Amino acid sequence: MDHSLSDEQVAIATMVRDLMTNEVGPRTQEIDEQGVFPTWVADLFRKHDLFAVTVPEDYGGIDGRLLTHCLVVEQVGRVCASCSMILGAQSLGAGPITLFGSADQKERWLTRLATGEVLVAFGLTEPNAGSDAKAMTTRAVPTDGGWRLNGRKSFITHANVADVIIVFAKVKADGADQITAFLVETDRAGFTVDKIEHKMGLRGSPTCSFVLEDVWIPQANMLGELGQGLEIMLRGLHRGRIGSAAQSVGLGQGALDIAAAYATQREQFGRPLARMQAVQTIVGQMATEIEAARQLVYSAACRYDARAADIERFSSMAKLFASDATMRVTGDAVQIMGGYGYMVEYGVERMMRDAKVFQIFEGANQIQQITVARDVFAKA
Ligand SMILES: Cc1cc2nc3c(=O)[nH]c(=O)nc-3n(C[C@H](O)[C@H](O)[C@H](O)COP(=O)(O)OP(=O)(O)OC[C@H]3O[C@@H](n4cnc5c(N)ncnc54)[C@H](O)[C@@H]3O)c2cc1C
Repeated sequence: MDHSLSDEQVAIATMVRDLMTNEVGPRTQEIDEQGVFPTWVADLFRKHDLFAVTVPEDYGGIDGRLLTHCLVVEQVGRVCASCSMILGAQSLGAGPITLFGSADQKERWLTRLATGEVLVAFGLTEPNAGSDAKAMTTRAVPTDGGWRLNGRKSFITHANVADVIIVFAKVKADGADQITAFLVETDRAGFTVDKIEHKMGLRGSPTCSFVLEDVWIPQANMLGELGQGLEIMLRGLHRGRIGSAAQSVGLGQGALDIAAAYATQREQFGRPLARMQAVQTIVGQMATEIEAARQLVYSAACRYDARAADIERFSSMAKLFASDATMRVTGDAVQIMGGYGYMVEYGVERMMRDAKVFQIFEGANQIQQITVARDVFAKA
């Protein structure tokens, strides 16, 4: 699939690269140490219209292609993976509303997602329903011209700052449980964020549990149709996985850039590390893996934009390959920099901590392997 970039796409990626390097780069350690949502970064993104990239043009967005979103989050992730989650989570939420929202829902939510006035979260995981999402126990019951929701969601990115959350819940209909998606505003009575996790990495991107206690929403807040929740979830994750893979590519590239610059300066045994062949073999491998991941991500994004039939396979492959590559690359970056790499000051230890979760969320990598294998066998 052709994924040559337009002049506009190159221009926006360059603008984001400069913005991140100059404005956010000097404060990445502070973001990691404070461990809270960096509101000032979200404001910076609003000022530079970056939220608009996650939304179609008809609703105030810019460009609307997933490939463009990938280019942007790659450049954000190169400097600050936590910051890349701000746009990543927004894209994960914007996707289902774009694909399944009613005209009113699109007008109401997408236009404000495009400006960043509204932040959205994706509420799927529960304490006992992770990889096995169908095991969810959150329920929606029809009442008073709308729905009453009860349940608990866990590990939800930005639930504490989001204005609206796409909540997946079971509805009893025709004698069966039918998973259905709802748009739940976080200022509704009965909605409470009851835990913000303390975690290994991505510390500037809050991960929360929330409780729904008799939360009432109108019928107009149902997203898609009754029982369409699994399809909405899967199609949302196809998009989300490609975006998170792009974030991984940026993160890996950022670690490689820091380690390569360091290796040209640091001398041992009378010469720079960069002149030692043992170091060159590691760096050559790192650069190759990141470039291979990038090409796979761009290809998957173009397939998504073209609504290609093989999107599930490609989104899983991109997410699997990019996150594994970045886990290796960030670890190698720390190794190349020796004791200095282990110190907070140089940034690569943070990048290694940040990299791990990309192998876990949006479907753990084992689930991606199984998804790809199923597709292979279906065609065998
Ligand atoms: C920082 C962070 C942010 C997150 N953000 C969100 C969010 O915004 N919204 C949301 O809904 N969720 C979110 N999640 C949840 C995330 O998607 C889940 O953690 C993930 O899907 C894995 O589920 P689990 O943690 O319950 O692990 P489990 O499902 O318990 O899996 C544990 C291990 O077993 C393996 N495993 C499970 N089943 C199989 C199988 N059939 N075959 C082989 N191996 C298997 C998995 O690969 C994994 O390695 C987030 C998680 C984290 C850590």
